[in-house]
Amino acid sequence: MNHLLLELANKRQTYRKMLNIYWVTIVLTVILEHFIHRSSPPFGSNGYLQGLILQALLLGAVTGIAEMLYRYRKVQSDNLLLVTATIYASSIIYINPAIGIVPAIYIFPILTSVLSFKKNRILTAFTLILLCFVLIYALSPELRLSMQPFHIIGVLFLYIGVTVIALAIAASGIELLDHLKHATETKQELLVKTIIMDKLAKMDALTDLYNHKTFHEYLEKLIEQSECNELPLQLAIMDIDNFKKINDTYGHWVGDIILQRVANLIKETVTPNDFVARYGGEEFAVIFTEKTPESSFTIAEEIRHKLAVTLHPELDSQAATLSIGLQDYVKGEGKESLFKGADASLYTAKRTGKNKTVAHSYIRDPKGA
Ligand code: GH3
Ligand code: MG
Ligand code: MG
Repeated sequence: MNHLLLELANKRQTYRKMLNIYWVTIVLTVILEHFIHRSSPPFGSNGYLQGLILQALLLGAVTGIAEMLYRYRKVQSDNLLLVTATIYASSIIYINPAIGIVPAIYIFPILTSVLSFKKNRILTAFTLILLCFVLIYALSPELRLSMQPFHIIGVLFLYIGVTVIALAIAASGIELLDHLKHATETKQELLVKTIIMDKLAKMDALTDLYNHKTFHEYLEKLIEQSECNELPLQLAIMDIDNFKKINDTYGHWVGDIILQRVANLIKETVTPNDFVARYGGEEFAVIFTEKTPESSFTIAEEIRHKLAVTLHPELDSQAATLSIGLQDYVKGEGKESLFKGADASLYTAKRTGKNKTVAHSYIRDPKGA
């Protein structure tokens, strides 16, 4: 059974509505029967009122039990609805045996069973009403008297016909919801795939940092912000020193480990407002936002210093170092100038001994770090 369908069938609201329908139908039935009996002189006399009250009490009690169970025990049983509907229909037939076609009212429990969308429940309803019909037919001489053979055949055809229609409704409901479920699953799969693809397209697989392309997209947006809203921006380009030597001496796989470690160290040290990307092979780029150039310089230096004092077992317990070029964004100068400044500073850092941070206007001696 389709679980979506079960959810639909078991919905509390549906059950509540069914109980409401039962209550309303009881009132309507009693009113209707009152008028039928009043306008039919042979039945309008003895004890009809008594019968009516008894019927109302019986239906009220049965529906009341279902209502109590629903309210206080949270019972939502399709079987209970089915039995209630069958008792309800049986009482109407029993009270009005003279109306030859009254057993047609048994289609009511069959229709109730459609709500469950379960074929077994519909067949149970069919069997139950058939048994009840036989029972009432056997117990009520008036019913036997009023029902002509063609009435019986008609009623049986009606039961079978309604059951077949009910089964068809349930089957198409199941099919429809299967389609719906399939479509929802496909949509969800697509969404997940799109998210994964989106992440793959944005991130660098080795370091889990943003990649070169994403870096440029963000930088352009941030520069726009900086131009419009005076958002302070600094760009740092960080390049691992002598990385080729690390690769050549210890192998590329060790190089990869160092790259990951440097990436993590940068990520851990910057603030949530900063943006870190793997710019190229052993180069990283950081965009610092909402900071003074001095505080960005301090963070860059913290990164450099932390790496310089980290000893790597894979490098025979030696440290790797970084050179950093930092450039403050000057309003109106654009991306290119920002890059040129950071690159020039990085070049200076490399040329003047590596393992240092150079900014447009700040140069700090790493040896003092
Ligand atoms: P410098 O101090 O001047 O920066 O020298 P360097 O050796 O770090 O720079 P160079 O540009 O000569 O070498 C960078 C090396 O980084 C070369 C390349 O094979 C290596 N590399 C680039 N991408 C990766 C990668 O994903 N994994 C590994 N293991 N190595 C990489
Ligand atoms: Mg390089
Ligand atoms: Mg390098």
